[in-house]
Amino acid sequence: MHQPRKYVMQKNYEVLLIIGYGHSGTTILDMVLGSAEGSFSCGELTYITRNQFFEEYCSCGSVIRECPFWSVVFEKWVGNDRTSTSTLTSTSTGRSAQRSSQNSAQAQPPMTLEEYRLLRDQFEGNKAFLRTVFRYLFRDDAYRRYVLATERLYDLIAEESGASVIVDSSKSASRAFLLASFCRVRVVHAIRNFRGVLNSERKDVKVDLKAGIEAASKPKKAKKVLIDWVLSNVMCSVSRIWFGGKKLHFRQWIRFPDFIRLVQPALQPGFEKGLFKAEHMVAGNAIRMKPPQKLRVGQVLGSGVHGSGAPDSRAQDSHRYPRLGKRHQLLGRIVETLLPSWNR
Ligand SMILES: [Zn+2]
Repeated sequence: MHQPRKYVMQKNYEVLLIIGYGHSGTTILDMVLGSAEGSFSCGELTYITRNQFFEEYCSCGSVIRECPFWSVVFEKWVGNDRTSTSTLTSTSTGRSAQRSSQNSAQAQPPMTLEEYRLLRDQFEGNKAFLRTVFRYLFRDDAYRRYVLATERLYDLIAEESGASVIVDSSKSASRAFLLASFCRVRVVHAIRNFRGVLNSERKDVKVDLKAGIEAASKPKKAKKVLIDWVLSNVMCSVSRIWFGGKKLHFRQWIRFPDFIRLVQPALQPGFEKGLFKAEHMVAGNAIRMKPPQKLRVGQVLGSGVHGSGAPDSRAQDSHRYPRLGKRHQLLGRIVETLLPSWNR
């Protein structure tokens, strides 16, 4: 069994990893947690292997391949890997192309982005959860290579940002094991009540790269949302308990933001009155692209739905979850009664 402790001691940074089902406020949490002194918000780093990732937008307003932060990190990370990062290197500016050729002489990228993508598919996501836990305990060559390459990426992020806390809102429960294989990880399990999630999942979302929406999302069937929400929260609970992490309930922290200080004491009292904007955040909810946001206590930031953080009362349910019909409201209420610890 390979214990990561010796690596943990050597790193001058730790990762604050936000896991949980989507639509649970993970992007806003990433922005708030990243606003603490010495912290850096990255967004959903797991999606760096997504096709066209370098054409997507960073929260700074630049396309990722041109972002002054990520272009440096990725050039150092994948070096002269022109086959798989052609979108990154072929359109680089003269300055970065020059830097790239200087780096390629000294830096030895551990693998191409394409190889990394294959390993990522093997070890990340809900379907890979058990495999990743197993490999965390009993490493094979593929897992070791995946860990090494990921470690190098986070080392570079820490180096370029100067941060001692890297905030990653990748959401995937398996990622806690990957990151804990080379550094200290603080796990934050973001949970939102089922009706809040279902209401959000009933929305028809269209791709708009510039607005920060990278994937379309058709309204999902309630049964599918329920199964995925339960599975995701089971796996996230395993990761949270394994690594001694903490839960953050959406309806609690949106009403009482001080709950967030329980997972990040570096946030000063009264932090909720500030404005939030992550400097260089990739993937995640489109709210990252908007101008600095105020945390509207008791309201759902950026969703246009107000009052969802308030305690339940049947009279307000249709107003609170406007996309849910009577049957979905009933299903939601049953689920929330059966699973009270996930529906606070
Ligand atoms: Zn940027």
